[in-house]
Order: sequence, then structure tokens, then C-alpha cells
Amino acid sequence: MEVFKCLVAQSGYFAGPVFPVRTVTKITEYTELSPAEEKAKFRDACRKIIGQIKSKQYSEKNQEINNTVTDILQDDAFVSRVEEKLNIPGCAASRAVSQAAESLCTALGEVKNEYIRSRQDDIRGVAVRLIGMLEGIADSPENCSAITAEEISPALISLIDNQLIGAMLTDKGSPNSHASIIAGNLGIPYLYGSAEAVKAAEKAEFIIIDSETADVILDPPERERAEAEVRMEKVLAERESRLQEEMNFTATCKTKIYANIAGPEDLDGLLKSGADGVGLFRTEFLFLNTEEAPSEETQYRIYSKVLEAMGDKVVIIRTMDIGSDKKAPWLKLPDENNPALGLRGTRVSLEYKDIFRTQLRALLRAAPGGNLKIMFSMISSQWEVDEIKERIDEVAEELEQEGKNYKVPEIGIMVETPAAAMCAAELAKSVAFFSIGTNDLTQYTLALDRESRGLDRYFNPHHEAVFRMIALTAKGGHENGIETGVCGQLGADPEAVKRLIKDGVDELSVPIKKVRATRILAAKAEKELSEETFAVADSACEAGDSMISLTAAADGELFSMEEIPDPVFSSGSMGKCIGILPDNGNIYAPINGKVVTVAETHHAVVIEGEGGRQILVHVGINTVKLGAKAFTLHVEKGSLVEANTLLMETDLEMIKDAGLSTMVIVVVLNSP
Ligand code: PEP
Ligand code: MG
Repeated sequence: MEVFKCLVAQSGYFAGPVFPVRTVTKITEYTELSPAEEKAKFRDACRKIIGQIKSKQYSEKNQEINNTVTDILQDDAFVSRVEEKLNIPGCAASRAVSQAAESLCTALGEVKNEYIRSRQDDIRGVAVRLIGMLEGIADSPENCSAITAEEISPALISLIDNQLIGAMLTDKGSPNSHASIIAGNLGIPYLYGSAEAVKAAEKAEFIIIDSETADVILDPPERERAEAEVRMEKVLAERESRLQEEMNFTATCKTKIYANIAGPEDLDGLLKSGADGVGLFRTEFLFLNTEEAPSEETQYRIYSKVLEAMGDKVVIIRTMDIGSDKKAPWLKLPDENNPALGLRGTRVSLEYKDIFRTQLRALLRAAPGGNLKIMFSMISSQWEVDEIKERIDEVAEELEQEGKNYKVPEIGIMVETPAAAMCAAELAKSVAFFSIGTNDLTQYTLALDRESRGLDRYFNPHHEAVFRMIALTAKGGHENGIETGVCGQLGADPEAVKRLIKDGVDELSVPIKKVRATRILAAKAEKELSEETFAVADSACEAGDSMISLTAAADGELFSMEEIPDPVFSSGSMGKCIGILPDNGNIYAPINGKVVTVAETHHAVVIEGEGGRQILVHVGINTVKLGAKAFTLHVEKGSLVEANTLLMETDLEMIKDAGLSTMVIVVVLNSP
């Protein structure tokens, strides 16, 4: 038995087999062998994979996948295409497989039948497996295993059947790397930081990965191994019961809970997750494991597939965020000392115009098929937004002239740089939404490369500066009538959700597996916040003195603050207020703004107006006791209202019958 101390990137426990991966970093393109010899290599690889599949017992789901693999490897349409390419002298089998798979996928993409079209992903999967075999690299573990490697890239993870990844162990890594985020998305424990552990794991049969102790234990004695297996079973059972609990949770929340996806392979999970939409489709994953940038047709089909599956739900597609740790083999970016501060994200798109144009064409063409919005990463200046818009206009013009069906979707930006957060109020004027990438916002706010090693304690997404950037962004957005989402890891963080909602975040986009848990967190946070808002009078705050003009929230007799028969209000501790004894039950907005809070019991609404000033309209005194019965709301959280918009209708008789005062109190809330 060997034990190694590691660092924790993603928490969890795993006990089971080890699978050391070696990666195909480069496909062999040219060969000295004759076409006949390359064909023999290809057929041999097909036979070996079929043999591997036949010799093993698989779960029902994996058996289904493997039947598809076998079918494709024996399918004439695929095999003859590869062999045709291999007739060209010098063409290596790996290259032939990759090209044949792509051309077959393109051909299938033209077919109307959805089932046949969906086989494209299967074919690509088979090609990856074949290439692994041809390059002498095992493709994927046979059973759910801990995969180990010096370093694991996002591209590598996407090459392996994710069902078979039970845990990850690397030497190089960081909790904030994209590989780690994907592991988190998949609910996979991930330890890193020990070259010795990775090396020793190569020869081990059984591994225990325990994030609680940060230990990696290799080949424990029989008794420990049996105990670990029992614990693993418990972990799986607990996971199952937590999932069941999440499925049974019915409370709703006002905050929209969206999901992050990386491609159409996530659709199954996405549809089951109950997400209100897709808040981040990281399209760069379509660009990473390819020999060349995916064609307009390929992209169009992928985007259309996701849009079609989501129906009228929002799908926010982010244009490719390549660069830094997400490298596309076909795109030679310049060597930089610090690529995180260099050419990445939208900067790449703006510099490599043709690739951007192709992606925009595919997106605009796919847009009529669903509720698409597009967003752009790494924005720091207004001119970038202007240039993006120019590119979109050009593409729209082109499509118009070609007579193609297209639509220009709403565009939004990711707020990932302090520059964008600081200028949110201005940027909000030219975009339809914000989505805060807290992973990058943390790295750029704290001046710490998220890939850097050994500096984890400096990378703190809960840093007050990060939260202030978020609040500033949401405020800038609300002042201009646009919504703000969070699509970085912080959005699903149990320690952060309440603060995010309090600071004005309207939408959380989280890993598919965390959608239900986040909805529970958000529902609880909203409930607590609404209780706190109306209990805030208990704490003494200074009354604001600024002048503000309000439209009457109700028709009736006006009372000064001191005359309100409730010390909560008459003391002024919540802020300056007035009372109106209403003639009828119609309650109106006293200012233009956005509804930022609605009490769960519907008796109170907070509107945020210009300059972030918040006005509370509180109907009746102690009416919280009535539950929502006496109030019919005409607005909801997020509604944009003008002064005099009807907020709610109130059953004044019911309030009086309960022996309570019907006085409507309008409070200019103190700034927090
Ligand atoms: C982020 O930076 O928070 C984000 C969502 O983008 P990515 O993690 O893909 O860089
Ligand atoms: Mg980012």
C-alpha cells in the first residue's frame, strides 16, 4: 500500500480501479507504409475494438453505447469511406479515420431524419476511439475508474465516456482550471499536485481518492480495500437519495436557474435537470478536438439541435472562448508569457475574422429555430462590443443577400474583467443582458492566473472585491433595465447564492448536476431575504436625507412618518416613509424602476429606481400574517414598472376583518 498527500480540486470520494491515460496530442497524418499496410492497420484496430467489447460484460447503458460502436465499425458507409482515403499513398490510417468520420457526419447532417442525424456524435466517438487505438493509446477505461495523468485537459475529458470517469488524479492542476470545472460539473472528485502519486498509480490496481483527507491510497491491504468498497457503495447510495430528494423538491424560486453545457451530448442530462434554460453553452469544446475549425454546417446543426430540444426556453450560446488553457490544435496562437492576459476569448474572435464570421453565420442561421441569445467572453471595452455588432450586421447582410433564413438574436456580454464590471452601467446601454463569469472575474480581480500552481489560497472567489464587482454589475444592469446572470462556479456555491441574489443577480447558470440543488438554495435564500427585508426595522440604521419625489402609491389620506401606527416605520429606522390610508385596494408604483423584491406573502414590493434608490411599498400593518390571501400581484420580481403602474390589488375588507390597519407605507429604504 502507498499513501500520497495531494491537493483538492473537487471534493468527493472514490474507491475502484485506476486508469492511467496517455493522450493523443497529435494525429499521425503521413505514413511511409503502403496503402495496403495502412488498411490492414485500420482493419486490425476495428477488430481489436470489437473484440474488446465482446469480451466484456457491460451495464445496459454502456452495452447500448457499445452496440452502436460495433455497428459503426462494421458499417460499410464508414469503412469504405476510410478505405477510400487510404488509397491515397502516404495517408495515415488516423488521418483517414478522422476525415472519413467528418465527411460522413456532414453527409448525415443533410438528412432530415432526427435519429440518423443524431448518429453524428456516435460516429465522432468511434473515430476518437479508433484513433486512440491506432496511435497505440488506450481510449477509455472499461469500467468506471479514476483516470490519472500528469495533466488532464478539457479536451482529454471530452474524449472519454464521462460515465466511466469516477475520479481524476493529476500532477499539474488547479481547482479553478477548466478541467477542474468540468470535473465539478460531472460530480467527479479530483485531486492533484503529486507527481509521485500519478507515477505510482500507473502500476496500481486499486485506488482510493478521498478529498476529506486529501489522500490518495494505492493498493490497500484486503481489509482496507473491502472497507473502501463498502464506503463507495454508501457514497453512491447517498448520491442517489440526494438526487431523489432534489427531484421531489417542489418549491419554486424567482431567480432563474439555467444550466451550463458544452455540447449536444449534454442534452439528455439538460432536459432531465429541470433547468429554466441554458445560461452558458461553451462552444469552444466544439473546436478543441478537431483537425480544423468546425464548418458552418456542422456548427449550424449543433446549435439547431440544442435550440430545438429546448423549445421556447432561453439558450445562451457563448462564442468560442479559445486561448489560455483551451487550445485548439488547428489554431496556432502566438506564444505568450501569460496567455491568460493575452489573446483569448472574444479577442481571438475579433482577430481571426473568418472563424468568427463562420460561427456568427451558423448562429444567426440557427436563431429562428429557438430562443437564442449570444454572448461574448472577456469583454473589457465598449469598442469591442461595437466591433462585435458590426460583425453581426455584416453577417446578417450577407445572409440577407443570399436569401437565407436567419435572425439576429439578442446579444449580451460576459462580465469577466474588472473593466467591464466598473463600466457596467455604460456597457448595459448597448447589450441585452450580462452574464458574470466569476471564474475569470476572480482571476482578473485578484491578479492571479487561475491555472497557477501552489497559490490556491490566494484564489478566493468569495473575496469582497469580487462580490462588489458583481453587485456593481447587477446595479448597472438594473439601472438600464437589463438582467444579470452568474455562470461561473460561484453561481452554484452554497456559501454564495444568497449574497448573489441579495446583490441583484437575476439568474444563476450552473452545471447540469447542480441545477436542482441550486434551485433549492435559491428558494431558501429568497425566503430568508424577504423575511430580512421586512425585519430590517429591528436594526437601527440612519435615515436617508436625500430629496426624492414619489407618485402616490394609493388614493387616500396622507400621513407623516411619525403618524404611522407602527414603530417599525414611524421610527424612520428603515428609511424615511409616508403612510396612505387607502380609499380602495389598488396599489401603484411610486417611481419608475424595476421590482427587485416581492415578499413571499405578496404584501410588500421593493422597486429599485434611478441611482439604485430602493422604495418599499408595504401594504397594511402586520399583514404578513394574512399570507398571500389578501393580495393579487400584477408584477413579479424583475418586472420593469413606471410610476403609477398597478402593482397589486388588495382586499381591504379582509385586512380590516383581521383587525389590522390597511395603511400603505412607502419607505425610501436606507442604502445598505
Ligand atoms: C467564468 O469565467 O466564470 C466562465 C463561466 O467562463 P469559463 O470558466 O469557461 O472561462
Ligand atoms: Mg471565463
